[in-house]
Amino acid sequence: MSSEYSGAAAPPHILIFPVPLQGHVSSMLNLAEIFCLSDLHVTVVLTDYSHRRLLRHGGLHSRFSRYGGAFRAATISDGLPDDHPRTGEAIFDVVMSLREVGGEQFRRVMESSDGASRRRVSCLIIDGMMSYTLPVAAERRIPYFIFRTISACAFWSYFCTPEIIAAGEMPLRGNDEDKLTYWRKKEMDFPVTAVPGMEGILRRRDLPGLLRVNDAANLSLQAMAAETKATTKANGFILNTFEDLEGPILDQIRKHIPNLYSVGPLHSHLKSRLESSGFESSQKNSSSFWAEDSSCIDWLDSQPIGSVVYVSFGSVTMLTRDELFEFWYGLVNSGIRFLWVIRPDSVVGNRVGDTIPEELEEGTKRRGHMVEWVPQSTVLGHPSVGVFFTHSGWNSILECVAIGLPMICWAYFVDQMTNSRFVSEVWKMGLDIKDTCDRVIVENVVREVMEVRKDEFLERARAMSIMARNAISEGGSSFVNLNRLNEFLKSTTQR
Ligand code: UDP
Repeated sequence: MSSEYSGAAAPPHILIFPVPLQGHVSSMLNLAEIFCLSDLHVTVVLTDYSHRRLLRHGGLHSRFSRYGGAFRAATISDGLPDDHPRTGEAIFDVVMSLREVGGEQFRRVMESSDGASRRRVSCLIIDGMMSYTLPVAAERRIPYFIFRTISACAFWSYFCTPEIIAAGEMPLRGNDEDKLTYWRKKEMDFPVTAVPGMEGILRRRDLPGLLRVNDAANLSLQAMAAETKATTKANGFILNTFEDLEGPILDQIRKHIPNLYSVGPLHSHLKSRLESSGFESSQKNSSSFWAEDSSCIDWLDSQPIGSVVYVSFGSVTMLTRDELFEFWYGLVNSGIRFLWVIRPDSVVGNRVGDTIPEELEEGTKRRGHMVEWVPQSTVLGHPSVGVFFTHSGWNSILECVAIGLPMICWAYFVDQMTNSRFVSEVWKMGLDIKDTCDRVIVENVVREVMEVRKDEFLERARAMSIMARNAISEGGSSFVNLNRLNEFLKSTTQR
């Protein structure tokens, strides 16, 4: 990759620090690569754990080698033992541990990032929950941007947490933390009034999962609420979304954070910029933490067009054995073909058990295929896939929006509660079954989206995918915003 800079005139140097989880790292690496393409120098801070995974499964070196010295990864420890699970609810340990041990390590990374062939770091781009990095930015008098890798609708709900609590809408009084107890409360269906712009859309059950606690003083909830409000102090704010998808919510956020850049969907934005620079994207763009099993593509090749439900609950969801079996029976009983990703660490206690009912084994052999991890964008774009049954993670939704497929949304936690509501009620691209896990509901909803209402959802999904493509094309909203961001970053060494 040639650079317009050399030696003393090295380009501005941007340091990017994602929360070290699959979805966050993927989004931030996509942004990092776009910056490399734009002739900026980038350092991405990874934890030892996520770095190891990316080296082993995500092709980090081959992906970025074309940029020579423009890209570097720096590593720190997340402070947890190697055998910590880093999945399910335990991901909060990663975030909280980094708040304890991240500050000093981050300072050292900043110092060692300044080198002979690189300028001093001129701008920080950090994820949410990372205020411990800010004293270093302040000492160096450099600007910082916050990049939250969630949807605008979930961010805005987090932003309004103090108002939601003040209005008495969440947390619900007198309950415990058992999720079934929450699911069944009638108050969960009451409308939310404290989130401007979402009146008539959100019920309490659609608010981010962190609000499902006993006590408004809950540490994780308060930390998230405080860090989210503090976004107003950043020099700018980046979201992986686009104006035609979340315009009204982005307008609400802009009232508090005017310097907002919507630049998504980033994965397709990167692909399009690679293509216009004469590069191929495809395989080299993987940022997987797990080994991708491509056998599923051969299986998909042998299925009829539009006939398969692709099922994946992302990189951190954990299911109990009972939940797994409810989904499994629902899929098999629907009589529809399915491709299902079940990560090796995704069943609580690793307890699928030796005794799998014969009807499930048989039904799966006839119409199903199960794998541990797939190249998801390739799978979603395969002509045999008709519907995405998702846990409503933001990257998964955006990848589906970009392809233009209908969705069945379940939700495990955090922002997924809000995302799933927007898919069904605002974008009308599918159905939302969060807070249920019942084989009859699963069977019915699969038939409903794959057969009964397929055309209706497909039409909406295709229209949205055209809007996504327009957003990242020359002159589109995300394209223009990204250029504006690039210009700002290029000006940072002159400040
Ligand atoms: N993913 C993948 N292969 C899989 C399952 C998931 O590549 O078999 C990717 C998916 O494409 C997405 C990411 O993992 O980019 C999951 O991020 P998301 O925000 O959807 O959910 P999270 O894992 O953060 O809950």
